[in-house]
Amino acid sequence: MTSTSKEELNKSVGHEIRIPCIKCSGRTTHEVVVSVDQSGTESRYDLDWYHVYQIIRCKGCKILSYRETAHTSEDYIQISEDEYEWQGSEKLFPSRIEGRKDLGDDAIYLPTDLRRIYKETVDALTNDSPVLAGIGLRAIVETVCKEKSASGNDLYKKINDLASKHVLTPSGANILHKVRSLGNKAAHEVKPHTPTQLSLAMNVVEHMLRDVYIFPKLVEEEFGE
Ligand SMILES: [Zn+2]
Repeated sequence: MTSTSKEELNKSVGHEIRIPCIKCSGRTTHEVVVSVDQSGTESRYDLDWYHVYQIIRCKGCKILSYRETAHTSEDYIQISEDEYEWQGSEKLFPSRIEGRKDLGDDAIYLPTDLRRIYKETVDALTNDSPVLAGIGLRAIVETVCKEKSASGNDLYKKINDLASKHVLTPSGANILHKVRSLGNKAAHEVKPHTPTQLSLAMNVVEHMLRDVYIFPKLVEEEFGE
């Protein structure tokens, strides 16, 4: 009964992988810049294992990120006569959702409290924490109401107040009411929403944040007061 293991440096440098980019939207080709490959055999279970750690660079926007994969010789499932499906695990850091682009550097224009809760909600969304993402979305709406001094004793009235003050458009307010009820369900019933629902709600909230905070600052910078 012998087990062996070895480590190889930069074995996969130059290899290309198509994965979601944190900056570009959708999948892009990433090139491996640095890699450490570990592999071994576990004779007790009669299997081989492989761990790969890579620093990767998007060939579009050039941003660097990190990828880690792990699999064993048991992780290939035969799906047809000459076809196998890989069942190993892949972790990417920062984590990401294909096709979703957050506010990126523009988040700097948000007030501090709002920026913090926004970043935490993005993290919850991309790290597969749907209940926390739902609660976070509602907290963003609450923070906007507080920051804009909306009046009313509940969030429903506060959103309407922001619409009557023209901070929000009537259709923007309607959408925020949907996000509000989504946050209610997450907080009180611990009910997770689907990634698609949450992604859509986040797009709507980001659109509002751009309208209310980011565009006015950008216009001010470009055109002056
Ligand atoms: Zn990119």
